[in-house]
Amino acid sequence: MTELPPCDVAIIGAGIAGTALALALSGHGLRIVLIEAQGTERTALPAALSLESFDPRVVALNPRSRGVLQGLDAWQAVADYRLCAYRHMTVWDAEGTGAIDFDSADVNVEALGYIVENRALVAALLHRLAACADVRVLAPESLAGCERGAEGSMALTLASGARLRCGLVVAADGALSRVRELLAFRTREWDYGHHAIVATVQVEHPHQATAWQRFLPSGPLAFLPLPSTASAHYCSIVWSLQSARVEGLQALDEAGFCAALERAFEGRLGRVQACSRRYAFPLRQRHAVDYIQPGAVLVADAAHTIHPLAGQGINLGLQDVAVLVEELLRAAQRGEPLGSVEVLRRYQRRRKGENLAMMAAMDGFKRLFEQPALPLRWLRNAGLRGVDRAGPLKHQLMRQAMGLGAAKAMQ
Ligand SMILES: Cc1cc2nc3c(=O)[nH]c(=O)nc-3n(C[C@H](O)[C@H](O)[C@H](O)COP(=O)(O)OP(=O)(O)OC[C@H]3O[C@@H](n4cnc5c(N)ncnc54)[C@H](O)[C@@H]3O)c2cc1C
Repeated sequence: MTELPPCDVAIIGAGIAGTALALALSGHGLRIVLIEAQGTERTALPAALSLESFDPRVVALNPRSRGVLQGLDAWQAVADYRLCAYRHMTVWDAEGTGAIDFDSADVNVEALGYIVENRALVAALLHRLAACADVRVLAPESLAGCERGAEGSMALTLASGARLRCGLVVAADGALSRVRELLAFRTREWDYGHHAIVATVQVEHPHQATAWQRFLPSGPLAFLPLPSTASAHYCSIVWSLQSARVEGLQALDEAGFCAALERAFEGRLGRVQACSRRYAFPLRQRHAVDYIQPGAVLVADAAHTIHPLAGQGINLGLQDVAVLVEELLRAAQRGEPLGSVEVLRRYQRRRKGENLAMMAAMDGFKRLFEQPALPLRWLRNAGLRGVDRAGPLKHQLMRQAMGLGAAKAMQ
């Protein structure tokens, strides 16, 4: 059995959260190991714009997340490749006349957010990591076992059979976290009974740099703007609806699906002309009761998964990363053990409240818009119109969604 050289921090998972964390911790005298089950070889990103060239997994990053990525010197590479800044957001209720429009000019920012392909962001972060001598990347390699060893260290067993000791193991291994399972972290989970269909579509009319969201009684439908040409207009769609209906929609051929999607979206962007391969994900809200144990900590989707309707998942995850980095570097400066509960508790205290509040808000929104009862429909339509007209309240909501309402970290 190979015994790998020990490290201070072992990060499991090289998605957006894990790679950002490794990069942010680099250069501070720590020995870091990043372990990723899939390969991290960088295949060339497609250069030409076409329906099938987009990563089906896109994220809407808010300006606060852009700040974190700029701080890591990873933003420019993503911007140079391709992204779509959206300056407007339109949300409306399928069951009435309630609508709300947000405009970046109202709050004096260049964009409300940016639609970025997941793989382009991870590629930019990995590219930066390649220059970091203090980060060892093990990929493809996965975590198979995790035990608390002597003197507070953690003993990891990898799928290859190698063993690794570390002072702290960070779970950045996503919604179905193996670390969380191996260390028996408790979670609270809600099954929405919903799936999300995700795909790239080509539409007839320009998307106007707008993120569109229609609330149907069956669930929200979002059209997110993607880089486009003068003659080909692309959007990424996230269509959340009851699991029982997803099978029927997935069974439709492309033309049938495009027609159903166009109807559900009220044809706001004209005809839905073409659709890429479609993927369906079950939607579950999940929140770890505790994010920490001695020698172990959960970040991003390993700690919380949230309904995609507000596009906040990785925005919360990047804030977890930013705060954890602050606390770990402060502890390292003071000579405190990185895996000590006192150090990790400071991270948990700073992150749990914001994550919980956002999850509760998204849950409430989703349930409110599912209500068919007339008084509730009237109330939410009046509410949407009222917020739309109430300048200060609307601006406060916008700042919150952009991540500008709370304390900044790592920027
Ligand atoms: C339909 C949909 C739409 C979304 N839209 C948005 C949006 O607009 N904005 C937004 O902010 N968020 C959005 N999200 C959420 C966002 O995608 C996630 O929050 C984000 O990708 C989580 O990143 P992560 O790095 O925590 O985990 P992941 O991206 O899941 O990465 C985890 C990594 O860990 C690796 N791994 C897993 N197990 C092991 C193991 N045992 N050993 C080694 N490696 C392992 C995996 O291979 C993977 O690379 C959306 C989610 C869905 C489902």
